[in-house]
Amino acid sequence: MMSYDPSNIFARILRGELPCKKIAEDDHTLAFEDISPQMPVHILVIPKGNYVDWSDFASNASQEEHSAFTKMIGHVANLAGINDSGYRIISNIGNDGHQEVRHLHIHVLGGAAIGPMVSQR
Ligand code: AMP
Repeated sequence: MMSYDPSNIFARILRGELPCKKIAEDDHTLAFEDISPQMPVHILVIPKGNYVDWSDFASNASQEEHSAFTKMIGHVANLAGINDSGYRIISNIGNDGHQEVRHLHIHVLGGAAIGPMVSQR
């Protein structure tokens, strides 16, 4: 795993150096709109702590951070009104996972039928 780079774009959003379209926030977690939405609803949920990816978060985050992160994903799906129609959550991790921003994030995607789980290579 790469070490955490505090100049990544989500760290800059967390520091207020870059704007975001905020959906929701609590002590440990921030949710905002993806700048380049792949679906009618495309929200990113990130921990406020400096975690590179899911493995880093799983190993090093507190129970409170885990709990807040999990709840926030369901909360933003509720706010976006996609609970009944359904949605998908994705976290890209590392090189094979095609992770572009090296600060853990969950994509919450919905608002239309998404199709099969993974496109064929
Ligand atoms: P990933 O490939 O999983 O690392 O996804 C990174 C996501 O961050 C992409 O969906 C981008 O559209 C999104 N993104 C990049 N810059 C910003 C930004 N400034 N504000 C919101 N979303 C962004």
